[in-house]
Amino acid sequence: MAAYDYDLITLGAGSGGVRASRLAGGFGAKVAVIEEDRAGGTCVLRGCVPKKLMVYGGHFAHDVADAAGYGWQVGDISHDWAAMIAAKNTELDRLHGIYMSLLNNAGCTVINGRGRLIDAHTVEVNGQHLTAERILIAVGGWPFVPDVPGAELCITSNEALELGQRPARIVIVGSGFIAVEFAGIFNAFGSEVHQLYRADQILRGFDEDVRETLNAEMTKKGIHLHPGCLPERIEKTVDGLRVHLSNGSTLDADQVMYATGRAPNTADLGLEAAGVSMNAKGALTVDQWSKTSLDSVYAIGDVTDRINLTPVAIAEGHAFAETIYNHNPMSVDHDDVPSAVFSQPPVGTVGLTEAEAAAKYGDIDVYVAGFRPMKYTLTENPERGLQKLIADAASGRVVGAHMVGVDAPEIIQGVGIAVRMGATKADFDRTMGIHPTAAEEFVTMRSKRPPVAKAAE
Ligand code: NDP
Repeated sequence: MAAYDYDLITLGAGSGGVRASRLAGGFGAKVAVIEEDRAGGTCVLRGCVPKKLMVYGGHFAHDVADAAGYGWQVGDISHDWAAMIAAKNTELDRLHGIYMSLLNNAGCTVINGRGRLIDAHTVEVNGQHLTAERILIAVGGWPFVPDVPGAELCITSNEALELGQRPARIVIVGSGFIAVEFAGIFNAFGSEVHQLYRADQILRGFDEDVRETLNAEMTKKGIHLHPGCLPERIEKTVDGLRVHLSNGSTLDADQVMYATGRAPNTADLGLEAAGVSMNAKGALTVDQWSKTSLDSVYAIGDVTDRINLTPVAIAEGHAFAETIYNHNPMSVDHDDVPSAVFSQPPVGTVGLTEAEAAAKYGDIDVYVAGFRPMKYTLTENPERGLQKLIADAASGRVVGAHMVGVDAPEIIQGVGIAVRMGATKADFDRTMGIHPTAAEEFVTMRSKRPPVAKAAE
């Protein structure tokens, strides 16, 4: 008789948990996946997918305006917000179905409920105790909202993707990925957008030129940026919300959205009692094999707060399953992970910022090009972009590549391969450009710009 009910119990059917579980199942393990919501997790249900669909949706407004420059005569246009939300939800249903069939086809048992650890090998769900040789925690994260009077009147990205109607005026708090992405979405659909943040510049941690360029472009699009300014309290008014600001003024809005980071979903999971170690932020601490402080308990994805991106969670889940269930030890290299911000215009980035490269290598070569997308030359669209390469001067190796502008995420994905392979600036230079594209700038930048030695924040 088997010592345990299952070989593996996974808590969380998000991108990481599903990848790990279905691979483990495919390798012959007996797997149960416990999920209290629908399968799909943050990325599919409350993040990347619906967000990007709404970025596409909003962009049509810019496209229609640009079309006039090419001779199109477009009459009055209007947007049906409810129709877009409904179409988006239909697509999420489809993706949820795909996740469920991936799990079912791999022989995994999917249990709807909230799982809690009882001990190193036991999980409680729906009042039942289930045992497993190993337990994988893949429960992700959840929006963090600071303790501000009136915060309960506000929304987070979760609700912003589900609004019954578009707010005519929205205040967004924060200046990270989510805040700038949603500022762009609501601005494109025609809302008046005010973004409040405590830093003096958006996107802390990104290259300074990227931050400045995106700030300028968002401002041109009419987004009101309020650096060094936060809500002190929020109150209900007859027709919406009033935000009392730290600078003494007020802003009236229909919605106030907090995008002030995300916290690991570790509360009330029985983790402390079971002896699983967490850091000060409540994230599970793991080794290179994603093993927690307990030998039988592993954790992947946002709950470990390593790099909180879907492809990283998937890679961590994949590596876990290969290592444990396919006798193929794999660990994830968290260096040079490309990422994108789906702002308008979007950002793509891989490797080090100029400040990080200067701190690490001392002597660096910096190449920067500003550009106006060709598509906009016949239009009144004033949007401009930026491309930037940073190389270690001694070896010539490109250690950072950054772009703001149309298709930046698509372009940086390819550049990321070169950076991961250790390509030098000379390798970039001897690659022919594809003309006319924005991407060709990455292989035609010849003039160095003196490094601006800004300390990393
Ligand atoms: P970020 O960590 O990117 O940004 C958090 C923002 O909240 C920062 O502006 C931060 O300010 C601010 N903040 C934090 N605490 C407070 C506070 N107490 N009061 C006021 N402001 C505060 O988090 P997001 O929520 O935007 O996104 C979470 C993560 O999800 C991202 O880091 C990313 O890993 C992932 N993500 C990825 C996306 C993508 O790949 N395109 C899209 C969306 C999310 P400060 O800068 O001053 O610290």
